[in-house]
Amino acid sequence: MIIFIHRRDLRVQDLAAFEYIVRTNQPSIHLFILDPFLLRKNRANEHSGRNFLLHLTALKQAYEKWKHPFYILYGSPADIIAEVLDHTSAGEVVAHRDVTPYGKQRDRELKKVVEGKGARWTLLLDHLLMDPADFQSYAHRTEPYKVFTPFFNKWSAYMHTYTPAPYTTHIRHLHPASFHVHDARLHAYEMPEALEQTLKQMEPEAVRLQPEERLTTFLDEALLHYEQRRDRYGHEEATSGISRHLNVGALSIREVYQQMMEYPAHSVWRRQLAWRDFYLYQAMLDPFYFEYEKHYDLEQLSDHHFQAWATAQTGIPIIDAAMTQLNETGEMPNRLRMITAMFFTKNLLCPFPLGETYFRYKLADYDNTLNRGGWLWSSSLGYDASPYFRVMNPVSQSQKFDPDGRYLRKWLPHLAALPDRDIHLPQPRAIVDLKNSRARAIEVYKGILSKA
Ligand code: FAD
Repeated sequence: MIIFIHRRDLRVQDLAAFEYIVRTNQPSIHLFILDPFLLRKNRANEHSGRNFLLHLTALKQAYEKWKHPFYILYGSPADIIAEVLDHTSAGEVVAHRDVTPYGKQRDRELKKVVEGKGARWTLLLDHLLMDPADFQSYAHRTEPYKVFTPFFNKWSAYMHTYTPAPYTTHIRHLHPASFHVHDARLHAYEMPEALEQTLKQMEPEAVRLQPEERLTTFLDEALLHYEQRRDRYGHEEATSGISRHLNVGALSIREVYQQMMEYPAHSVWRRQLAWRDFYLYQAMLDPFYFEYEKHYDLEQLSDHHFQAWATAQTGIPIIDAAMTQLNETGEMPNRLRMITAMFFTKNLLCPFPLGETYFRYKLADYDNTLNRGGWLWSSSLGYDASPYFRVMNPVSQSQKFDPDGRYLRKWLPHLAALPDRDIHLPQPRAIVDLKNSRARAIEVYKGILSKA
């Protein structure tokens, strides 16, 4: 018997683990462990936590539909797995590989516990289009690529040779196994009442999620215009909006790739999928990717520049509009992520892990690796980052990508009456002067990077 632990793979088909289990021809117990560490600091009520719990609810519904037992337990993964192994005859525990520092540490502990109980610990790769180890040998590399363009060229050739096809195993092909959670020791790991209620309340919304539909609608209706519209953030359907499904694994990346390839005009969007693989690949192979591990306690922080940025009170319209959208909805288009992050780390000279931590709570599509990649890029600290002297001017960006101020008027209604000419300009109460702060940022970054 096999125990399969769901993590960021919240779907019931096209999973590397299902393919593996079906080949072993063994019955399987499927569970999800809600780790209190990951829900700390009221995370369950922030957009990132809610998005995850919403998809977890949808996963529970999918298991119910296929009448396959599924358990959600609450507590330390290592303690829970030790108990479940004691209560079942399982000889193997299977999960998908995680690349984050916390995920790796948790998996080292799990491996120790599982092997200590005489069972087998198996980690499979599921969330990338390519296997970094295969890719390295295909590309004859010993070092990981650090620059995107050469990586992309090789990645494109690799994808033509090994087109990733979805796995065909579905939950209905697996033999269900079950166990009793009501035993006193396991009972301790049942979900707290409040969380159970949260998941219950999410049920109607979870039914409506339909990630596949979102993908198909985008491919059918918007892919053709993606190149022209993707930075026009006033245009609501310009990009796919699949990241919040992809990052929790409700959509399979192989499925996304296969469907996309059926559309002739896919090249620009395909390149974005390669950026995703690039960051995940770096996180797996580069030991320094997560080097800056400083996490801030946002509740304790009183830095006035950070507070102004986070609460949309900078007086720079594009920044305040973007942060308002983020705070209210958990969404922010890519170009605005670059502009707000660059403003934060350059014009305000705030440390990037502070902004990164804020995004961790607020982004519905939060992904530790991609968020890190975006912040490293914006603050000129990653390997293939924007050059240190590049400081996007928020006003000219706003004029260029939202010329009629549609986006600004939507998120900052108090500015709606201003004419197009004036709406992009800093307000009299702006917390920094853009010209002076740009010059200061270039000097400071030059000093830092020349010592590096
Ligand atoms: P589309 O434009 O439709 O692109 C399709 C897919 O390609 C995306 O879903 C994503 O998986 C991938 N992709 C697109 N752009 C990028 C990119 N620049 N880098 C890596 N992958 C990309 N993305 C996240 O998914 N989670 C994050 O936490 C995250 N944090 C970011 C923080 C900053 C500071 C920056 C600059 C970018 C961040 N991104 C993050 C990348 C990007 O902004 C989002 O992937 C994109 O906005 C998601 O919208 P979409 O699904 O409509 O994308």
